[in-house]
Amino acid sequence: MLFFTLKKDRLPEFLDAVDKRYKLIVPEQKGEKTYTFRQYTEFSKVSLEFIRTIIPPKKLIFPPVEKLFSVDKECRIDASHEDEQFSVIFGLHPCDLHGIEILDKAFSYGGRDTSYWRRRDKVGFIGLSCLPDKYCLCKSMHTDFIESVYDIFLYTLDDVYMVSVRTALGDDMLRLSPGLFNKPTKEEILEYKERIQIRDSMFTRIMDTTNLADLLTLEYKNDIWEEYSKRCLFCGSCVMVCPTCQCFDVYDSPDVIAGNSCRIRRWDACMRKDYALVTGGHNFRGTRPERFRFRYLHKETGFGEMHGKASCTGCGRCSETCPAGIDMVEVVRRIRE
Ligand code: SF4
Ligand code: SF4
Repeated sequence: MLFFTLKKDRLPEFLDAVDKRYKLIVPEQKGEKTYTFRQYTEFSKVSLEFIRTIIPPKKLIFPPVEKLFSVDKECRIDASHEDEQFSVIFGLHPCDLHGIEILDKAFSYGGRDTSYWRRRDKVGFIGLSCLPDKYCLCKSMHTDFIESVYDIFLYTLDDVYMVSVRTALGDDMLRLSPGLFNKPTKEEILEYKERIQIRDSMFTRIMDTTNLADLLTLEYKNDIWEEYSKRCLFCGSCVMVCPTCQCFDVYDSPDVIAGNSCRIRRWDACMRKDYALVTGGHNFRGTRPERFRFRYLHKETGFGEMHGKASCTGCGRCSETCPAGIDMVEVVRRIRE
């Protein structure tokens, strides 16, 4: 790991240089208080102060709908794809970088998912520090800092960014405009340390995760699953906005006139009634409480058993988005009572 500083007013030059070499994706304001990742056009459109995008950056690597392959009338399979340009995504916060790490684990389980890794292998990341709002839960989930996944990370100080370079790709990006980067001074290192403490003291939303996986398993039959499942609309919004939910459906889309067919993969949601419906009509999670409970158990218990950590990054999107006002912190607190 190498550290440099970059003057804030030189960031546009750096991003312009990265954009010339790679396909640069950046956070931009979409609505009054909403943000999204888009291809870079000019620096004035880049959002540096946003807390979270509605849809997480997973959409750039694991798109909501994608063609896996097509078959023509002679039964020839075409699984070719356009050779995509190498992308660099700028502005990912620590929680979303943890989200990418979790997706990497999920799409490597039992073998590499070719469709996911085809894109993932051609993406680099420039992380950006952030300050928490009332929904941020990353401190409780131990995802408020990131030491992997990113190529470059920018920590915002008063006049400069403290720049951490972690990979060879990050080094390549710095070399695109080497005159912009300096060695950190003692004062800047001191300011960096102070900023860490200030940010740490700003978290107001804390969830006790001690033995949470065990508690959720022990409270498998708790009445609160029934209670919350009456409030839940099963709209699936919490799943769609989650940076780590990775369930999908695969179906064939035939074109009878053209005589060919495509196999499509699209995001799916465990909250949906037909998600666990199998041939013969049996549904493994046919009731509302079963579906509501499953999401919590899979996030905190099931994924941890397989990969050694829970699959919630504490990004706060599910609580901010839920139209029924269901908040994971409240559900977990009730489970602990
Ligand atoms: S967003 Fe809220 S209402 Fe919709 S499925 Fe999730 S918990 Fe239920
Ligand atoms: S469960 Fe909610 S807080 Fe956790 S990663 Fe998903 S959207 Fe973010």
